[in-house]
Amino acid sequence: MIFPWFERTFASLTGRLLAQRLHHALLLAGPPEIGKFQLADALAQVILCQQPASVGSCGHCQSCKLFAAGSHPDFHMLESDKQLGVDKIREGIARLSGTAQLSRNKVLVIPAAHTMTDSAANALLKTLEEPTDNTFLLLLTEKPQQLLPTILSRCEKCTLPVPGEAESLNWLKAEGVEDASGALLQAYGGSPLAVRRALSEEDTALSYRGFQDGIQALLSGAETSLALASRWQDAAPQVVTWCQQQAHRRYISTQQVQDFEMFSLCQHAAKRLQHPGINKVVVLCQVLELLQRPAPDPHP
Ligand SMILES: [Zn+2]
Repeated sequence: MIFPWFERTFASLTGRLLAQRLHHALLLAGPPEIGKFQLADALAQVILCQQPASVGSCGHCQSCKLFAAGSHPDFHMLESDKQLGVDKIREGIARLSGTAQLSRNKVLVIPAAHTMTDSAANALLKTLEEPTDNTFLLLLTEKPQQLLPTILSRCEKCTLPVPGEAESLNWLKAEGVEDASGALLQAYGGSPLAVRRALSEEDTALSYRGFQDGIQALLSGAETSLALASRWQDAAPQVVTWCQQQAHRRYISTQQVQDFEMFSLCQHAAKRLQHPGINKVVVLCQVLELLQRPAPDPHP
């Protein structure tokens, strides 16, 4: 599946693959939750497809069927949690050494390339320099600055931006999020996928809507800052980020010094929250109490 904001990138990569001009090592770099993995997945499928076309994989050849079933013998993925060690990289490289079993090509995907240890990265270098025949390496990262320069220089970098606001809002609407707004998107770093995920997890994590409802209740006097701060302490950094965004938006429109103070206080609070052992309820209370200050009279 290709998200609409990646359709052009996908078409361009597929076109180059069919013209046999696709670089054997691609680095897909971009912010979290914009669909980099889905793009790599679709690209891998078309690389392995036995009858690829400019629109993508055929979807019905033996290769496509195995790929969809998650059991393609020429497709390998090196997942990692916090670190990707040298053993796993060597294992992945070993799988690429033989000829392709089913397709003409072989694909290795590294979904979080920035988690490679230095020795893992060094082990990968040789493969990047002298790849085995018909091998494609797809490296994904949200932190390209953490990759060794030697890795960066041997990959073709494909920088993927956050999707445009209008495109994201259209997509969210099609996904059933009727009241999506620019502010909602901004609350989730501009990622429509993060918005959709957050709304589907309404029960477990604090959502932006839950936050907005809480702020409304605070301003109307139905909630106290202490009650909210206690309830939101597990999501304290997220709450402070949203308060900061709200203050920023207000300052842009009002140019009031009070809103700028609020913005600065949130920045300060975000830093304090990074200290282990900090009382999150106290920090949140200070931020929320400032929000309760009445707006200054526009016509004094
Ligand atoms: Zn196919």
